[in-house]
Amino acid sequence: MVLRRRLLSLALIAAALVGVQLASAGVAQAAVRVLYYDASQAQEFVAVVRQGAQNWNSRVTNVRLEPVPAGRTPNIRVYADNGWPRTYTTSLGNGYWYMGREAVNDGYYQPRISTHEFGHILGLPDRRTGLCADLMSGSSAPVSCTNAFPNSTEAATVNNRFRSVSRSVPAQTYVWQPAA
Ligand SMILES: [Zn+2]
Repeated sequence: MVLRRRLLSLALIAAALVGVQLASAGVAQAAVRVLYYDASQAQEFVAVVRQGAQNWNSRVTNVRLEPVPAGRTPNIRVYADNGWPRTYTTSLGNGYWYMGREAVNDGYYQPRISTHEFGHILGLPDRRTGLCADLMSGSSAPVSCTNAFPNSTEAATVNNRFRSVSRSVPAQTYVWQPAA
C-alpha cells in the first residue's frame, strides 16, 4: 500500500512535469489536434491500421491519430474490402478509407498502405513519383517497397496543414490502383 502510494505520487510528479513541458511547448506552437479513428470495421487489418496511425504519430507533432474512445464520434472510419485501397476525405482530418485486398494480394506492404491512406486524411494527395522514399507515391513505387513512413517533406507538409485550427480543404477521393 505504501509502495503503491509512493508510485502514485511519482506518477503525479511525472504527469506534472509533462504538463509543464506541454504548456511551454504550447507557447511556441499550436495545440496538438487529436483525430480519432475507428478501426473496428477493418476486419483482419485492425493491427495494421493501428500501425499506420503510430507511424504518423512518430513523425508529426501538430496532429495525433488515436483510437476512438467509446461513445465518441470518430473523425476517421476504416473499412476493408476486396477492392483497391482508397480514401474518401470530407475535410482535412475527416473521412474514411478502405484497406483493399486487391493491393494486399498483389503483395504491397500492408503498413505502407495504411500509413499512405491516413496520409490522404491528413491532407496529402497522391504523388506518383515511383520512389519508395515517398510515402505518397503509393502504388507507383515497386511492390517490394517496405517504407511505411512519411519522408521529412511529407511530415512537414502535414505539420503545416495542422498548424492553424481551421483550414478549408475540399473533399477528395484517392485510389491506390496502379496505372494500367
Ligand atoms: Zn493514395
